[in-house]
Amino acid sequence: MPWNRPLIIGLLVMLLAMTWWRLQSDDGEIRRSRLMMGTVVEIVAGGEDSNKLESAVDAAFAEIARLDMLLSRHQEKSDVTRLSQSDRGSKVAVETAEVITLGLDVAQRSGGAFDLTLGQLKALWGFGLENPTVPDRNTLSAALSGIGPTALSLNGQQVTKQSPHLQVDLGGIAKGYAVDRAIAVLREHGVASAAVNAGGDMYLLGQRPERSWRIGIQHPRQKDTVLETVQVSDQAVVTSGDYERFFERDGIRYHHIFDPQNGLPARGCRSVTIIADSVVLGDALATAVFVLGPKAGLQLLTQYPKAEALIVAADGTLYNSPGWAQYRVAP
Ligand code: AMP
Ligand code: MG
Repeated sequence: MPWNRPLIIGLLVMLLAMTWWRLQSDDGEIRRSRLMMGTVVEIVAGGEDSNKLESAVDAAFAEIARLDMLLSRHQEKSDVTRLSQSDRGSKVAVETAEVITLGLDVAQRSGGAFDLTLGQLKALWGFGLENPTVPDRNTLSAALSGIGPTALSLNGQQVTKQSPHLQVDLGGIAKGYAVDRAIAVLREHGVASAAVNAGGDMYLLGQRPERSWRIGIQHPRQKDTVLETVQVSDQAVVTSGDYERFFERDGIRYHHIFDPQNGLPARGCRSVTIIADSVVLGDALATAVFVLGPKAGLQLLTQYPKAEALIVAADGTLYNSPGWAQYRVAP
């Protein structure tokens, strides 16, 4: 990750604000945050023994750092970088293979709306750089040629690329996987109550001492306004939004979630929140539904009976899946 000024300032503002992450640490809880995977990762863990909690949280952060070394486009020796630099593909770690397997499944079920092969496109747009640009049509179509879900395949840990210039980007799913693994590490350390949030990809483990986990979902256009509050336990809550990473040119908002059909920011939604059993699935589905738009997105979710969604469409209309209401509570 090129740690440039706008990105760092943005992350620090996020760290200070964290408005939609409306958790207060109670007695018997510790709260720690670090800049990782291009975002702020925050862990809250509860329990009696604070030394035990500290070492559990350290181990969880270490696990996220280890996964970033495998899954990031910005780490020179990561599986993703090696894969992108290879002509025909390469062998990857078991963890990377697991992420790619799930990503390819969502890619196929979403008709290619979710796409792990957009690395070149992402680099072209340059989000997070000092001067992001709107690429012209020819440049976009060149970046889209020879890619797509069928251009990448997996056999065990061996990944094959159809085209040498295909660049893998796991940005729509890797944080979710890392949060799941961080939660697994916390569990292994005997932590029964915890929350991990990597820039909008969260998991809420167990219950809190005095109250349940309540998550305020941010209004995509009013930073300090909570759209809805949900109450969950042992579940993931993941949001993809057009307000997370964007720039404006001539009054048009260009954000970082692309429609693979044309290489432009997807225009159907302002934000999508998914509640699911795992963060990795929630992460992939939030991105996929965002690209598909509210109607086709809700249709995709019928394939995932345990996942629920709250969608803010491009015109501000709210949509939710039939089971969403069970999680909704008064703010
Ligand atoms: P998220 O915040 O999980 O929706 O992920 C957004 C990130 O996913 C972007 O910054 C890109 O790295 C990547 N991405 C963008 N468009 C897509 C897409 N259509 N399918 C999969 N990943 C995408
Ligand atoms: Mg995602």
